[in-house]
Formats: sequence, structure tokens, C-alpha cells
Amino acid sequence: MDPAWLVLASIAFGILLGAGVVLIVTIAARRGRRAVAVVSPSVPDGVDQVIDALESGGIVLDPSNNVIKSSPGALALGLVWNNALVHPELVAIVDDVRRYGDPIVRELELPRGRIGDANIFLLVRVARLGARYVLLLAEDRTESVKLDAVRRDFIANISHELKTPIGAVSLLAEALQAAAKEPEQVKRFAKRLTKESDRLARITQEIIELSRLQAADALARPATVEIDHVIAAAIDQNRVAAEARNVTMASGGDAGAEVFGDDALLVVAVHNLINNAIIYSPKGSRVGIGVSNSGGIVEIAVTDQGIGIAADEQDRVFERFYRIDPARSRHTGGSGLGLSIVKHVAQNHGGDVRLWSQPGYGSTFTIRLPEATHATADSLGESA
Ligand code: ADP
Repeated sequence: MDPAWLVLASIAFGILLGAGVVLIVTIAARRGRRAVAVVSPSVPDGVDQVIDALESGGIVLDPSNNVIKSSPGALALGLVWNNALVHPELVAIVDDVRRYGDPIVRELELPRGRIGDANIFLLVRVARLGARYVLLLAEDRTESVKLDAVRRDFIANISHELKTPIGAVSLLAEALQAAAKEPEQVKRFAKRLTKESDRLARITQEIIELSRLQAADALARPATVEIDHVIAAAIDQNRVAAEARNVTMASGGDAGAEVFGDDALLVVAVHNLINNAIIYSPKGSRVGIGVSNSGGIVEIAVTDQGIGIAADEQDRVFERFYRIDPARSRHTGGSGLGLSIVKHVAQNHGGDVRLWSQPGYGSTFTIRLPEATHATADSLGESA
């Protein structure tokens, strides 16, 4: 054969072979795509958008319990992993719905996600979606369940806290009666009676303050508050306590700072911090009250050179009725509500309270509040 023909024939064969291969690959790919579309079930019409718009947990499962759609809320709650439900309890409910057909509503306590020891409380509704799918809706009830528990604890604690001084008052009254003819005894019992009734009055007052702070309209009519005035009033209220322990109070920092809020509540908060600083410090020490005003944030820092607070207690001291040393607090007359009030006052003013402390060296509590010119009156309510 002529070599030129041989070359041409080989080229033609090559082209044909290439075209054939391309054709086969294209058909295979098309088939493959079609096959994927058939195997992977799609979410029924419209459900996709509904699940995307859900703030709570929403999950659609196919007949093999594969998760084919889930809302960001469901992922955040740790309900789905690797296109499957994480919790066997949820799988069991889904299976029951498939088996019996009726929707199921149930409250469950489940671990959050696959690891970690935090639990979540869910209200779960599961129902069929068309003939093949199942829809699972999960509402996170963790906050309200916790709040209920806190409320129950609070009532139990109040009863306990009130019982002690009330018991003491009635015992002391009996003792007074019995010692009517001994003036020295009468004086001694009367003094203790005054102390216990002062304590009762303080706890009652603090409970009222705390309930007021938790009411929705705690700052219904915020006005412009001068921080200099707040500090001066709080220092003034602590003079007797400071003198009794020979503690010096010194204030300084940026003058003229203003915030939106309730002057009386802010005085209570700063008073509580200064009072603790005095009580939990050695006699003759120094308490500093500093104000800084920068970047739209007003900071009121109360620093002491006292006993300090260990790292693992630093969050807990803001809880109601929490006291590191209950015996010492009983002696000082503390109710354990002071810092809880400080925290609520700061939060109601759109701010927070921070704590730095080192046992043996002292503590600094800092209330941070938005400056009046930066804080929007709207965010706190109506401006007076
Ligand atoms: P209390 O009425 O008992 O002082 P608080 O809520 O004001 O209640 O404080 C809670 C606990 O935090 C106190 O019992 C005390 O153990 C600890 N604490 C508060 N302030 C200080 C401080 N400045 N230094 C050391 N410990 C403090």
C-alpha cells in the first residue's frame, strides 16, 4: 500500500475512534446524571422555602430516614449529622409516625449534638409529608425550662433566707420577755433584735428591687443620668460602713460622663459594689472608684485590696443568693442578692458587668454602660 494512503487511513481511524470515545463518555455522563437525579429524592414543592425560612428546627426525611432538607436551626441544635438524625429518640418517633400515620407531639430532653454534656429541651412535632416523606419540627424550649427552674429555686431560696431571721426575731422576743427584769440582758437581746429586723428589711428591699428589675418596664422612662452624681451618692451611702472598717474610699477618672437610665437604680448598683469592696477587704485598706469614658462606653470600676474571688467562683457570684462563704455573709448580713442586682441593673441599661479578681490581691468589678450621646433612647424605651 502507498505509504501516503497508509498515513491518511490511520488519521481517519484515529478521528473515528476519538469521536466514538467522546460519544460513549457523553452518553454515560448523561445517564449518570439522570441516575443521580432519580436516586436522590427531592423535597416536595414549596417545603424547601418553608424550611429555609424557619428559625426553629425543621427537617424533612425520605423513606430511608435520610435527611434531605434541614433548617439552619436544626443544625445549630445539633439534630443532624451526615444527613441523618443524631438522636435515636427522634428516629423512633419518626418510625412511629410512619407506622401508625398519626402526627406525634412530644417534649424531650436531649444532649446538644453528638458530643459535649449540655442538654436541650425540645418540643418536637413529627408528621407525614405526602406519601413518602416525614416532617420533623423542633422548637427549642431550653431557655424557658431553665427560667422555670430558676424561678422555683428563687422561691425556695427566699423562703429559706426569710425563715432564719424570722425565727431569730421570734426567739429573741421570747428571750426579751423572760429577761424583763435584767436591764443588761434586755439591752443585749434588743440589739440583736434590731440586727435581725434590719436584715429582714434589707432582704425584703432587695427582693423588691430585683423583681422590679426583672419587670419588662424596668426602664420605661429613662432620663439622662450624670455618673458623677451616681458615684457621689453611692460613696455617701457607704461612709458609715467605711468608717466602721477604717477603709478609705477614693474616686477619680473622667468627669462629666452621662448615660440614659434610672439614677436611683444606678446608685443602688454602685452602692452594692462599694459596700462589698468594703466588707470583703481587711480593715484599713483602700477602695477605688474610677470612671472612664471612651469610645461611647462609660465604665465604672470599683477596686478593692480584699480577699478576692477564685476563678471558678467568678461567674457564680452573680447568681441570686450565691455566697462563697455563707457563714461570713451571715455575719456581715449579706443576702447574696447584691451582685445579682448589679448585673440586672447593668443589663437593663444596655450594658454589662465584668469581674477581674485574684484571691489574696483583690477584685475589680466594672459596670459598662453605653454613653448617653451614643446610646439610642429607643433601645431603652422612651426618653424623658
Ligand atoms: P452578699 O450580700 O453576700 O455580699 P453579693 O451578691 O453582693 O451577696 O455577693 C455574692 C458573694 O460574692 C459574696 O457572698 C462574696 O462571697 C462574694 N463577693 C462579692 N463581692 C466581693 C468582693 N469585692 N471581694 C470578695 N468577694 C466578694
